[in-house]
Amino acid sequence: MSGLRGATLVVASHNEGKVREIRDLLAPFAVTTRSARELGLPEPEETGATFEANARLKADAAAAGAGVMALADDSGLEIDALGGAPGIYSARWAGEARDFGAAMARIERELKAMPNASRRARFVCALAVAYPDGRPTEIFEGTVEGRLTFPPRGGNGFGYDPIFIADGHTLTFGEMPPDAKHAISHRAHAFDKLVARFAKDS
Ligand code: IMP
Repeated sequence: MSGLRGATLVVASHNEGKVREIRDLLAPFAVTTRSARELGLPEPEETGATFEANARLKADAAAAGAGVMALADDSGLEIDALGGAPGIYSARWAGEARDFGAAMARIERELKAMPNASRRARFVCALAVAYPDGRPTEIFEGTVEGRLTFPPRGGNGFGYDPIFIADGHTLTFGEMPPDAKHAISHRAHAFDKLVARFAKDS
């Protein structure tokens, strides 16, 4: 991301798991990051109907609030047998208490109530880069296809990682070391596109 070298970037998220992963992905580049929480920026309500719309509104709010470039991630798990749910509601399924054990148990219950339900699912990530100077916000999307497994396995990562196995793998994202997840995740795929875009500016 040499077009951003030396830049300060606000990571427009209050989700510590996500901020940690974005910092890991940015580590090879000389970018100083601040999280929205560190800067005391308010968390805007996610009123968009798509990952892209929600990423855009979070990045735009953070760039306006902090006066520097902002990077936001909106992401979630889409389950085919549940018509794409929880999708953009992935965080909300865990409730105020952020209880992902309960959210994963709900998914298991709903799938088990359907005869022969497919376990096919994907993680989707939309990254938005917003500027404080009126340049248009840019969007980069990535997905990773896989299947769900129960009971949950592994204590790495965050959110729904313990029930997701990416195609071609046997470990859940919760069991994989962070570097292995970062090589194949939805966030990494979106990030690759972002890096390619900023490399063009260098
Ligand atoms: P939001 O984008 O902040 O609305 O929340 C995204 C939610 O999707 C997270 O709280 C997780 O529940 C889920 N999610 C997104 N990315 C991942 C991931 O890499 N692993 C596990 N869960 C994820």
